[in-house]
Amino acid sequence: MRQANCGRLIFPCETMAAIQTPALILSVKTVGEADCLVTFLTPVRGRLTGVAKHARKSRRRFPNVLEPLNRVELWLSARPRGELEFLEKGELVRAFAGLRRDLPRLAAAAVLAELAGELASPLEGAGAIFALLELALSRLEEGAAPDSLLLATAAHLLKLGGYAWQLEACRTCGERPAGPAWLSLREGGIYCPACRTQAPGPLMSLDAGARKLLAAAQSLPADRLNRLVFPPRQAEQCLAALRSFLRHHLDRPLKAWEFFDRIRAGAASPAGL
Ligand SMILES: [Zn+2]
Repeated sequence: MRQANCGRLIFPCETMAAIQTPALILSVKTVGEADCLVTFLTPVRGRLTGVAKHARKSRRRFPNVLEPLNRVELWLSARPRGELEFLEKGELVRAFAGLRRDLPRLAAAAVLAELAGELASPLEGAGAIFALLELALSRLEEGAAPDSLLLATAAHLLKLGGYAWQLEACRTCGERPAGPAWLSLREGGIYCPACRTQAPGPLMSLDAGARKLLAAAQSLPADRLNRLVFPPRQAEQCLAALRSFLRHHLDRPLKAWEFFDRIRAGAASPAGL
């Protein structure tokens, strides 16, 4: 240990004052020649952004750490500057390498990671959101069907983020529709066909099967979400409703949908990927 002459860049001294946190890397951008701007999710402080100085030149401080979706441990400076953290060093915990070799699963993971980042404030939900994202990445790496796991996890994330959907009873008459019903994107609740004209739009149609699956995804414990199977028809309805709902409530559309669409279009074409 270097006890004497503790310069500003000598690690054993700096890390003594640093704050260690588990993190899931959400995005990494190169800044200038050597620095990286890193957005990451933490269980206690939600989504944070920080600078990793000289990260591209220092493999010693960030060995294989700064890749999106990596589960890592980060050491943050105890003296952040404004809203920006300073990353002093990092260690890789899990890279989900199997997930990266499968594009449909990678695309589902990218959507979930971005959504988790958006929903992780207010901070009371951040710990559960972090744990659920880490679990979803593990399930995808283990081979879970990407559409079903994406939908089940996203519905559960919405609940953790304070956007739970009310899917069983019509918001006006209280009846439980047996057939299709309409989800009000503004309210996150359903209206039966008879009450549809009173529903605040925009509206998205969901059949009974789709609503049952989404309600189950919200109420099941996180470690059982991988048991839900969304058939293609219900998956399409739920994906459309999820995307429209998020577009309605978030400031901007999730960037990862573009990647997700490209991969799905490729997978559905005769030539495949
Ligand atoms: Zn009604």
